[in-house]
Amino acid sequence: MATYDFDLITLGAGSGGVRASRLAAQLGKRVAAAEESRVGGTCVMRGCVPKKLLVYGAHFAEDIADAEGFGWSVGSVSFDWARLIVAKNAELNRLEIVYNRILRDNGVTLLPGRGVIVDPHTVEVAGKRYTTERILVATGGRPSLPELPGIEYAITSNEALDLMQLPERMVIVGAGYIAVEFAGIFNALGVKVTQVLRGDTVLRGFDEDVRGALHEEMVKKGVELRCETVVRSIEKTKTGYSVRLSGDETIETDLVMYATGRRPNTDGLGLDAAGVTMTPAGAVVVDEFSSTNVPSIFAVGDVTDRMNLTPVALGEARALINTLYLDKPTAMDYADIPTAVFSMPPIGTVGLTEAQATAKCGCGIDVYLSRFKPMRNTLAGRDERTMMKLIVDRATDKVLGIHVVGPDAAEMVQGFAVAMKCGVTKALMDSTVGIHPTAAEELVTMRDKRPDPSPECEE
Ligand code: NDP
Repeated sequence: MATYDFDLITLGAGSGGVRASRLAAQLGKRVAAAEESRVGGTCVMRGCVPKKLLVYGAHFAEDIADAEGFGWSVGSVSFDWARLIVAKNAELNRLEIVYNRILRDNGVTLLPGRGVIVDPHTVEVAGKRYTTERILVATGGRPSLPELPGIEYAITSNEALDLMQLPERMVIVGAGYIAVEFAGIFNALGVKVTQVLRGDTVLRGFDEDVRGALHEEMVKKGVELRCETVVRSIEKTKTGYSVRLSGDETIETDLVMYATGRRPNTDGLGLDAAGVTMTPAGAVVVDEFSSTNVPSIFAVGDVTDRMNLTPVALGEARALINTLYLDKPTAMDYADIPTAVFSMPPIGTVGLTEAQATAKCGCGIDVYLSRFKPMRNTLAGRDERTMMKLIVDRATDKVLGIHVVGPDAAEMVQGFAVAMKCGVTKALMDSTVGIHPTAAEELVTMRDKRPDPSPECEE
């Protein structure tokens, strides 16, 4: 006789929560998932999926322009943003049904409403209490905005995905994944985008050559990058907003979007009362097996603020189920996780940046770097260059990092990430025959090391 109502209650039916709930239920566990919003979570409803659909939609602007160079007479074209949003929403509705079906068909009980932990074995949802042997916190994160006068006028990526009308002018604050992705989408669709960033270029933490290449291409495409600049205040005007910047300059705009990071969704979840340790930023602290300090409570995904990527949350969920129910303690492997930024042009990257490789190996690295105009851009007359970079440990010949900025970067790097996991060496890359003509073949034909730029590494 079971003592509890459920074996596992998951708080949050996003990527991590749905994966863990489904896997546990498939093993015969009695599982419930509490969700206060839409099943599917951030990635499916407010992140990766709708964003990528808008990236596809926006990319046609360049594709249509490029067609002329290949003999097409395109004539006058028009774009209807509202139609794209309606089509995108229809696809999200379809996916929501699919995710609900995944839970139902696997026997997971959906508890609509906000799940709050009452004690380490009790969860309250919509006024009803359920007992459970274990609790999994998979509540994700939400946009985090700094405090400044007028911040209430700013939208976030949540609202940007659902605008029913395109603004003429837009200010985007931030320089991370979300800021550069939305700058690319709106700029391609003809919005005059001004991106305000406090650093000297975009995407802090990425390889410097990647950052430089994206910065250059974004500017060429028409995004105005206001570096080393912060917003002091936002005022509503008769026609839009007046954004006051450091240096006392103001920009008049129709819309202000903030993409200044995200924070874990842990407020009011009852974690404090249950004695769960959290970081000062509100992330749930877990060990390598996603266990909190309370033996019956676990956490995966963005709420733990480890590596905030959907495939990582999925991996953490699978590892947790192995640990809890298959007698196979499994820690998520965070080494060489590939990632992409769906900026315009996109970025694909896996492994170490040059700075990280230098920190690890000192002067003992070789860097291979190539910038070239992809074939398609020749007839298209498009002045956009692809950048590829390999970082190699000179002592072992192991490839430490692969970075691509250019069309299809994400698709390319996914395959090379497998090679990285297998410990690929530069010699193995060199012995791989390229596929001609592709951009990707460049990665297996880079022969010339970049001369060492740092004087202390010169022989
Ligand atoms: P990021 O953490 O990537 O970037 C936040 C940006 O906001 C940085 O440029 C940061 O500047 C800036 N910033 C932070 N605070 C302030 C402030 N007070 N004033 C001005 N600028 C500020 O966050 P995102 O919101 O872009 O994305 C969140 C996470 O979501 C990402 O880290 C990623 O893990 C995930 N994601 C992944 C995607 C993908 O895989 N393609 C797509 C979208 C999101 P600074 O660098 O100077 O600190």
